[in-house]
Amino acid sequence: MRLVVIGGVAAGTKAASRAKRTRPDLEVTVYQAEPEPSISECGLPYLLSGTVASREDLVSRTPERFAEKGVEVKVRHRVEELDAEGKTLAVRDLETGRLFEDRYDRLVISTGAKAILLPVPGANLEGVYPLRFLTDADRILSHAKVHQPRSALVVGGGYIGLEVAENLLARGLEVSLVEAADRVALSYGEEVAEKVGAHLEEKGVRLFTGISVEEFLPDGEGRVRAARLGDGRELEAGLVVAGVGVKPEVGLAQAAGVKLGQTGAIAVNRRLETNLPDVWAAGDCAESINLVTGEPAWHPLGDTANQMGRVAGTNAVLSEGGDDEALEFPGTLGTGVFKVFDLAVGKTGLSERAAREAGLDAVTVGLEAPSRAGYYPGGEPVFLKLIAERGTGRLLGAESVGAVDGGSADKQIDVSATALWGRLTVGDLVNLDLAYAPPFGPALSPVIQAATVLSGKV
Ligand SMILES: Cc1cc2nc3c(=O)[nH]c(=O)nc-3n(C[C@H](O)[C@H](O)[C@H](O)COP(=O)(O)OP(=O)(O)OC[C@H]3O[C@@H](n4cnc5c(N)ncnc54)[C@H](O)[C@@H]3O)c2cc1C
Repeated sequence: MRLVVIGGVAAGTKAASRAKRTRPDLEVTVYQAEPEPSISECGLPYLLSGTVASREDLVSRTPERFAEKGVEVKVRHRVEELDAEGKTLAVRDLETGRLFEDRYDRLVISTGAKAILLPVPGANLEGVYPLRFLTDADRILSHAKVHQPRSALVVGGGYIGLEVAENLLARGLEVSLVEAADRVALSYGEEVAEKVGAHLEEKGVRLFTGISVEEFLPDGEGRVRAARLGDGRELEAGLVVAGVGVKPEVGLAQAAGVKLGQTGAIAVNRRLETNLPDVWAAGDCAESINLVTGEPAWHPLGDTANQMGRVAGTNAVLSEGGDDEALEFPGTLGTGVFKVFDLAVGKTGLSERAAREAGLDAVTVGLEAPSRAGYYPGGEPVFLKLIAERGTGRLLGAESVGAVDGGSADKQIDVSATALWGRLTVGDLVNLDLAYAPPFGPALSPVIQAATVLSGKV
């Protein structure tokens, strides 16, 4: 049997490796357009500051390592056409330009997501880059090295923009961040967003919210020198990193007749099968189900991509009639955490706004608790907001922010995510049996404290 995987980062390489382990006699080829497979894209911001010392540190496995395991990975090869009826692919060798045909018995599409480009004049000037792939980081670093800009502008206050702002500042640049919405960290509630915005400014990032970049202005040599904002102001910027979001990379699949879902990503069932026979999809290019609302969701995250890759890779090589062994991917909560300077910021499930938009009657509580027993040194305040459904008390979501060192925001979020996964109510959370000793938290965890208050409100 021959398996072809299109796209070789988190979902694709996981699917290929898993498939090969499941069926050692399998012939498997991964086509990957970028020059490296298995890139830890989550580490890219830290390459910009040197926190991650070398780009090689972010390539967890080379094609040679894959070959040792019997998986062929062809980098700089882009699949340009897919004929799902004939089970053939047209593949471009990006080194030589040669186009050739390949065939498959089973196919996994894991083409990921692509950066949204800023639709403003000057966005294609030298010095204006997205940060999606390792090659984008290469371009940013090379520009910074060669042209030594004094100041940088980050466009977009989502988690990637915030991570980039921190790392460019650590590199020694003056950093401004422009966000069109009225606050950064927009997928969070106002309490968290305010803390993050204030922290950014405290650390020396010039923050502009509620205003858009209208245009990038060139210097005499065609490189970016400034951005013009909606109110006419000019911001000097010898380097611009745009983090204005991503969208699923689905052009190839769509042209071949693969059905997209309402989020614009590939529609799959729980086995990650697409509408076409013998074609699976996994990772950022694929839709999933929001486990809180039951509605289609698109959560482009690295851990999710890996989990989906495992399911798709297993199912793609099952023998006819091997249904009993099929794996299922139940859905996602959109759980995430990021670091911005000294803060850890995380969330899971629905924000208060998302809950209301989903037609749920949301009740919330936000509280600040110490991350260790009050008398034990080194504690930091941690903010936790829980969102629950009025009447039923079902937990709908959680957000937390606290110090990176000595705070426990990630712990609050992981406990809450597990509670969401189990569809627990705030009443259940009140009596959770969690680990306690003074160096690790207060006697009652912030999750229990918040749930206790909230259970009186729901
Ligand atoms: C800066 C940054 C920071 C991030 N931080 C985090 C984090 O902290 N936590 C987290 O959970 N997630 C994070 N993510 C998201 C995470 O990196 C992605 O969710 C994950 O990489 C998705 O993996 P994937 O395999 O689905 O797709 P991708 O990583 O997008 O890989 C798909 C690959 O397929 C290739 N491809 C596309 N079309 C074709 C074709 N036709 N032929 C051949 N190859 C093709 C692409 O070139 C690409 O290399 C971050 C992302 C970025 C960019």
